[in-house]
Amino acid sequence: MNNKTYNAFETAQKQFDRAADLLELDQATRDLLRNPLREFHFSIPIRMDDGSMKVFKGFRVQHNDARGPAKGGIRFHPQETIDTVRALSMWMKWKTAVADIPLGGGKGGVICDPHNLSLTEQECICRGWARQISKNVGSHSDVPAPDVMTNAQHMLWILDEFETIKGAKDPGFITGKPVGMGGSLGRKEATGYGVMITVREALKVLNINPENTTASIQGFGNVAQFAIELFQQMGGTVKCVSCWDQEDHTSYSYKKENGINLKELLSITDSFGGINQTKAKQLGFEILPGDAWLEQDVDILVPAALENQITAENVEKISDQVKIIAEGANGPTTPEADKVLDKKGIFIIPDFLANAGGVTCSYFEQVQSNMNYFWTKDEVLGKLDVKMTAAFIAVNDFAKSNNLNMRDAAYVISVDRVAQACKDRGWV
Ligand code: NAD
Repeated sequence: MNNKTYNAFETAQKQFDRAADLLELDQATRDLLRNPLREFHFSIPIRMDDGSMKVFKGFRVQHNDARGPAKGGIRFHPQETIDTVRALSMWMKWKTAVADIPLGGGKGGVICDPHNLSLTEQECICRGWARQISKNVGSHSDVPAPDVMTNAQHMLWILDEFETIKGAKDPGFITGKPVGMGGSLGRKEATGYGVMITVREALKVLNINPENTTASIQGFGNVAQFAIELFQQMGGTVKCVSCWDQEDHTSYSYKKENGINLKELLSITDSFGGINQTKAKQLGFEILPGDAWLEQDVDILVPAALENQITAENVEKISDQVKIIAEGANGPTTPEADKVLDKKGIFIIPDFLANAGGVTCSYFEQVQSNMNYFWTKDEVLGKLDVKMTAAFIAVNDFAKSNNLNMRDAAYVISVDRVAQACKDRGWV
């Protein structure tokens, strides 16, 4: 999508530096929070289905665990880099802090493309990942979860290998497990619903009735699908969705001026959130270039695919009609583009606030797994709404009373919470 190569970790560090300046943090605290506490790089040798051996590169980064065990997903992606994992782990530490849950920030990944791997090969990668890192993770130190191109089955394989090594059951070690195997009801909905709970609150602030509002979304995976579900329940219309094509693996935007039918679109979508273009045409979707989702005349934009998607190169294409951008993805906006959005007066719900629903529900899952007692879906989603609404209101109130935008306010609150935990522990 973008000609320029962006480094997500540089983006994350620039965002942190701005918050550190606003908080006038001392040098030692800056040095501690700007870089990961610990990181692990390892090789995962796998016997492929054809009998050959292949070695995959894996990572786990624990950015900070002053407020509780490191927490964050494991991403399988062919373009995964250590800097992406560092950035994502840093954003996780701000996310758990802004949601005010007793966890730190971590992230993991494997450079691989599950599209080209059999299920057996994927299982071997999961088990290999667990074998390499088992000494350094656990329910009281670092708790992984799914992320892009990993799912509940991957988590269960990792848990099974981990428990086999430890010789004991420890379901609180990992979240995003299948329901019935230690997973929480509501987890699959949590991130997307959380995004739309923050949109609902932002609409209240802007005095806009959600009914008759329109949205355009990048991504049609776990986050986007459930964000669309709740948005439609709120009375909104989604006009455009951008995601990967199942065949040529490039992105396209799929548009219906009168609104997409979620069930219809899901019927031609694979488990990776990719759409079958031929079937989309048959269903009457207009097919546009991958970044056309950004140029739509809608009230709300939700980037829910990958980082660095709204950049200095394309930010001016955003319609004057757009009032809210809710960042479902992690780091979808570069700092340069962010400045332009700020000038345009668009209400930004920053990533680590907007998409905190996933980790909040993961925390609920960990609590339930540790207790070995599970809540109903309504109970989980009710608690999620309470947490997300409280986090949104805290950031919005702080922004108003300190004349800050939402991103700066969210950063100042969370950096301050993590810095304070480090100080209280005597680390700085
Ligand atoms: P997913 O793998 O389920 O879906 C990703 C979607 O993005 C797919 O529809 C894919 O086709 C699309 N996509 C990928 N590259 C694209 C491109 N260049 N243009 C358009 N579409 C593209 O992933 P997900 O779980 O929905 O996560 C999406 C984002 O949200 C990621 O940034 C992830 O880190 C973040 N996030 C996810 C969760 C969660 O609980 N799943 C929680 C917090 C944050």
